[in-house]
Amino acid sequence: MKRLFAVFLLLFGLTGCEGRPSSYTTDFFAMDTFMSVSVYGSDEDSAQQAAVACEQEVNALEPALSRTREDSDLYRLNHANGAACEVSEDTYAAIEAAVQYAEWTGGAFDPTMAPLTDLWGINTENAHVPTQAEIDEALSHVGYENIKLIGDNQVQLLGGAQLDLGGIGKGFATDAVFALLTQQPEGAVTGALVQLGGNIGAFGENPARDGGNWVVGVADPDNNAEFVATAEVRNASVVTSGDYERFFEQDGKRYHHIFDPKTGYPADTGLRSVTVIDENSTRADALTTALFVMGLDDGLAFCAENDIAAVFITSDKQIYTTDAVASACTYTFLGEKKGYTDAR
Ligand code: ADP
Ligand code: MG
Repeated sequence: MKRLFAVFLLLFGLTGCEGRPSSYTTDFFAMDTFMSVSVYGSDEDSAQQAAVACEQEVNALEPALSRTREDSDLYRLNHANGAACEVSEDTYAAIEAAVQYAEWTGGAFDPTMAPLTDLWGINTENAHVPTQAEIDEALSHVGYENIKLIGDNQVQLLGGAQLDLGGIGKGFATDAVFALLTQQPEGAVTGALVQLGGNIGAFGENPARDGGNWVVGVADPDNNAEFVATAEVRNASVVTSGDYERFFEQDGKRYHHIFDPKTGYPADTGLRSVTVIDENSTRADALTTALFVMGLDDGLAFCAENDIAAVFITSDKQIYTTDAVASACTYTFLGEKKGYTDAR
């Protein structure tokens, strides 16, 4: 199931307004999801140039982060039977980041989940619940300790490990797009809203609010075209992982795409979604996946310890926000009419 992410833009009445920056939006499909980049700048050419450059940046990164494309570095590495492989600088940087987040989260985020993702076939016609023997076999190859970062862009996978960077790919791409926007000529770009699937990047000023912050919605897991809260941010990323994004149902039970590396099953912790607000989108992306796996209690404790701004939505419609949310954004709870409780 493909996702369309709704984001509050409050951009009504913009076009042609005097004194307001020009804008250009490009919508495209990449990394298996819908994407949209809207850039606001001093003139239409600058906005268009920057937006098109962002799209090209994401498209250029796709082969560096994909494991399914046969021409990709990850495909080559995953099929090298344990031999060391040279990969591109971007691929190496993404693997390095992934290993760092795996260590930090005690393996709740683990970039070697490829055998499990393949086995369950989520998002393919072959989606099904595997046997325990199959899960055990796949799990025997899972473990980020099997990734050897040799240096000089050389990587080696031991123990039959296979990499899947799906848990940070869009965050990594959002950070690359932010870097590109920052490098634009002085004044050319005044603001941008970057939507790479569930990764939202809010860059610079929002012209619809007189240069104020961007308003990003936190989706209702029961209907992701609607919101249960908003986060007002600037130069920050708002990333969500949820059980409603990619899943299949068998015998009335939902099986989604975020796996617990300990059990080999979709993480079943009573959470519907986790949203993280962070300047670094790669970190936010790794964290949403990891916190979803940790579950509410361990996730809240991890956030308190590490000053992480996160919003947890539970299956009994409680919405918990961590202390760091107040400093990361202006947060507004809107879920009351939809039956949600602001649990704090
Ligand atoms: P999405 O890619 O839909 O935004 P996530 O960022 O939560 O969602 O990433 C989920 C993807 O990450 C899965 O599709 C799979 O490729 C991979 N994955 C699943 N479980 C884990 C995990 N525990 N750690 C790291 N990656 C995972
Ligand atoms: Mg993620």
